[in-house]
Amino acid sequence: MSEPEMTMKGDGASGLIPCDVLVFGASEILTNQPGCGGNSMAVTAGKVVAVGDGKELRQLYSPRQLVDGQGLLGLPGFLDGHTHPAFAVGRAEEFDWRAQGLTYLEIAERGGGIHSSVRAVRSCGEEQLTQIVAGHFRRMLRHGTTACEAKSGYGLSVEDELKSLRAIRSASAQTGMTIYPTCLAAHMLPLEYKDRPDKYLQIICNELLPAVKEQKLAVAADIFIETGAFDVVRARTYLETAKDLGFALRVHADQFESLGGTELAVELGAQSVDHLEVLHDSGMEALAMTRKTYVGLLPSVPHFLRQQADAPARRLIQAGVPYFVATDFNPGSSYSASLPEAAHFARVRLNLSAQEAFLGITQHAAASLGVADVKGSLAPGFDADFVLCDLPDLHHLGYGFGENPVWRVFVAGKELNLS
Ligand SMILES: [Zn+2]
Repeated sequence: MSEPEMTMKGDGASGLIPCDVLVFGASEILTNQPGCGGNSMAVTAGKVVAVGDGKELRQLYSPRQLVDGQGLLGLPGFLDGHTHPAFAVGRAEEFDWRAQGLTYLEIAERGGGIHSSVRAVRSCGEEQLTQIVAGHFRRMLRHGTTACEAKSGYGLSVEDELKSLRAIRSASAQTGMTIYPTCLAAHMLPLEYKDRPDKYLQIICNELLPAVKEQKLAVAADIFIETGAFDVVRARTYLETAKDLGFALRVHADQFESLGGTELAVELGAQSVDHLEVLHDSGMEALAMTRKTYVGLLPSVPHFLRQQADAPARRLIQAGVPYFVATDFNPGSSYSASLPEAAHFARVRLNLSAQEAFLGITQHAAASLGVADVKGSLAPGFDADFVLCDLPDLHHLGYGFGENPVWRVFVAGKELNLS
């Protein structure tokens, strides 16, 4: 720990292998790959090339930059598999309404909730929205999230959904956040189509989704299947259209009422179905039968909404259903960009172990996005996205709360300045 960080020139003349970065002196680097570990790591061209003992790696590699791990715990950069970053303003006043006992749907009926976010996004210029989303990404990066699934869904018109997805893309380029963008045009019926749901469905299926595809603005499509949002019949139309266009499918289902959304998601081969606080046995059986559709566990949400019900995580895991843990970062039901905090709620409310929560915010989240071969682990060949955390060991991940354990964040081997 006494050796200062320094820049060196690795020319290979010494017989050593040149590399870009050598992280040494971490307490441990957890890689998520069996047989691969140590306290040091070599990185070249944005990829991990070796993980092992510091002394051995320093005898092998000549790095251009040495990074002192300061005895911190090294982990893969976190992946947030469910976020809504394309909102323009928070909705803190609603937090008081919740304290007065109003439900999520009652707040929406009052003109608050998602509709107030829609008004704000529609009146926001694209450049301004980009800067706001970039701010959200920086919050996430400061808490160790180096890649995220990022949904639109507060535009609810062709023009405003495209604007939101472009803002997400531009904000990603500005901040270094890796994104897996999702079109959530079917978040809620916009008020102007309140009595014409099929007309809105027609517009998003026939105009918006093809435009999103053509402009390569999203890799997935998502829908909120819920009373007050979309029923399973309309959801099927939307999801089948999206699937035919080549989008991966992600679904919000069984959050407040069980309408058959989980069963539909499994039937259509969705990448993930998220929430499941009121999952019925038939949905559980469908998930356990195929074990292909990931379940997105979002334990910050029932906490934020003062809900009693939690997703039956232990039963799902026991049944072999793949899962990940995410924040659901959004202004109305989970105003937290912190995956370590989501890990805390996963441990407290869902009874996940530290290891299960860790996998949920790294390797499993990567797998749910189809990128587990490059993200979510730190073995040779993986992207060198990693964080150095002030945690004595993995048992402390999600043990404490209200503090950020992430001290340093690296994307593709480069440290981000997040101050
Ligand atoms: Zn959500």
